[in-house]
Amino acid sequence: MTTSGTMTTCSEALRLVLDSVDPLPARKTSLEGALGLVLAGTLVSPETVPPFTNSAMDGYAVRADDCAAAAPGAPVSLEVLSDLPAGSVALHDVRPGTAIRIMTGAPLPGGADTVVPVEATTSDAGRVRITAPPKRGANVRKAGEDLREGEELLPKGFVLTPAALGILASVGLAEVPVHPRVRIAILTTGDELVAAAEKPGPGQIRDSNIQTMCGQAVAFGAVPVPFPRVPDTREAVTLALTKARESADVIVTNGGISVGDYDFIKAVLADCGAREVFWKVRQKPGGPLGFWLWGGTPVFGIPGNTVAAMVCMEEYVRPALRKMMGHARLLRPEVTGIFEGEFRKSAPDGKVHLVRVRARRENGKVVVSPSGPQGSGILSSMLRSNALALVPAEAVALKSGDEVLVHLIEEPEDR
Ligand code: AMP
Ligand code: MG
Repeated sequence: MTTSGTMTTCSEALRLVLDSVDPLPARKTSLEGALGLVLAGTLVSPETVPPFTNSAMDGYAVRADDCAAAAPGAPVSLEVLSDLPAGSVALHDVRPGTAIRIMTGAPLPGGADTVVPVEATTSDAGRVRITAPPKRGANVRKAGEDLREGEELLPKGFVLTPAALGILASVGLAEVPVHPRVRIAILTTGDELVAAAEKPGPGQIRDSNIQTMCGQAVAFGAVPVPFPRVPDTREAVTLALTKARESADVIVTNGGISVGDYDFIKAVLADCGAREVFWKVRQKPGGPLGFWLWGGTPVFGIPGNTVAAMVCMEEYVRPALRKMMGHARLLRPEVTGIFEGEFRKSAPDGKVHLVRVRARRENGKVVVSPSGPQGSGILSSMLRSNALALVPAEAVALKSGDEVLVHLIEEPEDR
């Protein structure tokens, strides 16, 4: 733990955050909402798939022996006993000299061992003619050829994909134990803010961070709980934080975390008895980032500048949410890239600068170049970036050809 005011490094801050959160307790969830969630236990198949032997084609269920002598000049003619659509069961067996017209997915009738596709037959007046001997068992899907009862379907820790949801549905596991989505309260603060649909008055701006942060929360697989904008008063901040704690697993406040006269987040959290884990990180953007534990509720205090908000969500909140949702891989790929262009800190500041860049692969290397101006409030360069380049604390500038660590923020976590 650090004391208020001492600056934490980026990696130390991340470690403190991750050490402070645990996976949410497992909960049974219906398949409908489970895409991307992490299984909290290993699942074994209670059933066999397919549950019965069935036809893989529209055609005729036959006995291969009946058709062994079929030839183009000497077709075998079978009596067609009935029609068997998918969803029905044959009322009688296929006897020697007979066939049943069968649709894809219908259970293979007793006596039959083979399906001859309709394209390979001609028919009239209740009979079907077959002009080539089929292979025994052709176009038949055997019961259990996909999954067997008692077989392990999916291991604990598996991240549910569409195919996994389909498998679970096919064996009747309509509810599965998962780590639930984290509910994340998002509070934007500031007397200058108005809604996107409003016309700002003198000195006012629109609240863009509520959109970026809620969007990120959804993209991270969490459930955002957006709060009404919080005015810059102690009372309003206290009320909003208290409500947030009741309605979410994690709280993110935005703005009001610096040392301005109207920055109340820190003071209110202290009054509420929240434990400060750190405040201020040696980074830019997002230097005033703070993190508290309020009882069991993690609270991120994120500065209001638009890019600071997004970068802190990406670098700290996302890994925390992933840990809480049971993921094993918490962090985006970190690669060494080759810098292209020019970057210079305005002064040596001992901070890691997270530079918005475009990353591309070139001859097996990742090449990154700044995606635009780097002011903490310039969202358009965030829009155009797909990676963050980490200019080291001790560096002052980067020039073309320099190596730099890069976080690929559009690629899935690999560590
Ligand atoms: P603060 O961290 O409250 O000192 O705010 C830093 C800067 O970010 C100020 O210029 C604010 O106007 C701006 N800002 C704060 N909150 C938001 C928001 N929700 N949307 C857009 N800009 C914001
Ligand atoms: Mg503010």
